[in-house]
Amino acid sequence: MEKGLHLYNTLTRKKEHFEPLNAPHVGMYVCGPTVYSDVHLGNCRTFISFDLIFRYLKYSGYKVRYVRNITDAGHLEGDRDEGDDKFAKRAKLEQLEPMEIVQKYTLGFHDVLRMFNTLPPSIEPTATGHIIEQIEMIKVIIANGYAYEVNGTIYFDVEKYSKAYNYTILTNRNLEDMLANTRELGGQDDKRGRLDFALWIKAKPETIMRWQSPWGEGFPGWHIECSAMSAKYLGEEFDIHGGGMDLAATHHTNEIAQSEACSHKQPAKYWMHTNMLTVNGARMSKSAGNGFLPGELFTGDHPLLDRGFSPMTVKFFMLQAHYRSTLDFSNEALDASEKGFRRLMNAVSLLDKLVPSTDGNDFDLASLEQNCIKAMDDDFNSPVVIAELFEAARIINIVYDGKAKIDAAELEKLKKLIQDFVFDIFGLKDEDASNVELNSVLDMMIDIRKAAKENKDYATSDKIRIGLQGMGIQLKDSKEGTTWSKI
Ligand code: AMP
Ligand code: ZN
Repeated sequence: MEKGLHLYNTLTRKKEHFEPLNAPHVGMYVCGPTVYSDVHLGNCRTFISFDLIFRYLKYSGYKVRYVRNITDAGHLEGDRDEGDDKFAKRAKLEQLEPMEIVQKYTLGFHDVLRMFNTLPPSIEPTATGHIIEQIEMIKVIIANGYAYEVNGTIYFDVEKYSKAYNYTILTNRNLEDMLANTRELGGQDDKRGRLDFALWIKAKPETIMRWQSPWGEGFPGWHIECSAMSAKYLGEEFDIHGGGMDLAATHHTNEIAQSEACSHKQPAKYWMHTNMLTVNGARMSKSAGNGFLPGELFTGDHPLLDRGFSPMTVKFFMLQAHYRSTLDFSNEALDASEKGFRRLMNAVSLLDKLVPSTDGNDFDLASLEQNCIKAMDDDFNSPVVIAELFEAARIINIVYDGKAKIDAAELEKLKKLIQDFVFDIFGLKDEDASNVELNSVLDMMIDIRKAAKENKDYATSDKIRIGLQGMGIQLKDSKEGTTWSKI
């Protein structure tokens, strides 16, 4: 394989050498969550996978503008412009304003991703914040002859478009088969072709989320937001467009069609899709009722769970699979990941205690690093990197036990490898380390208080005791010394 990063491009159905349009700058757009309910663990898998990709691109020296949108309007139930608006339905159910629903679930989404220690995107635009851009784009598509209006609703003309462009470029499906497999037009919509989809939907009297447009009051279709926002922030042509595999057939296919019908350009050079998280072989989804909420997973409060698992255990479990493989969720698999993650973190915690040898060295860490880079360069192969990191853990353990020697230069390489791959690229963290830090801070506070008491500085000693009490920590003095406990 040629040197450098290679990634699998859904568009060409092969691994390609990554050549950004405008190196070192890279534009990456990932379809974000629809914030009408909590994200489930399947959604998290996709966002954690793109976080890995974002982090590795940065490690490789690229300056990445990572745009991940928030879908907060225009998403109807079902993919076919029918059914209720998900936000309005949820708002009614929870007796909240639709924008309260959006705010609530956006905050929840951010909290969850923070627990998984993912980096925030560079820009996180919302559909409702870009209604004007969407209307402008629809106007151009109409002017170019690829969309038509029926009664205040604008439809994309797939048949006309597919005469000039390849509508199934992303999935390689046969258009005739697709037409044959698509349901007859329902009586309630007025589109001309079975595959036509709405760019703008006329508001019904009861529609709450509605905007003025040249075609009357309405709201945007789901697909147009991503075309409009990716073009706005990354340009008509950019490097990477990503999302879960389930989005390729409809959402991304329609995104490509909209962008080409508007600017005559295929928007992204590389289309990347993550595979699904499954439960007993079935795709995890909200509608199937098998969608674990991350909170349920952390506490173990779910009928399918034997017990709770920490965010980093779950993240490690995900990184142990390649992003293009399916990953089946099970208690046993998480048990095994927890053990593996602990083994790795225990070794990492010994790193600072290793004493470099001055009379010999048994290791070559450069090759270990090269193997990790090679694996990541091969379409972000995180499971292979994890196998290399276990080798690093083995080295740390045998050096710590005095069974092998490592010199100062190799020890530095070992530390860099762990910092780069465990912390910077995988974004893992030692969850117990925070307790270690708390322990040392409290030890120090107890020492300061002891010294203050010895100096009869009772104001300071009381300030420490009362201050800690306010933070939920109780100090207890005894003949043996002072101990602490959480209240
Ligand atoms: P949604 O909020 O449903 O629009 O989904 C947000 C993202 O999660 C999309 O990129 C989906 O493709 C992805 N996604 C949905 N279900 C799963 C799953 N079971 N495994 C992995 N990704 C998923
Ligand atoms: Zn999208």
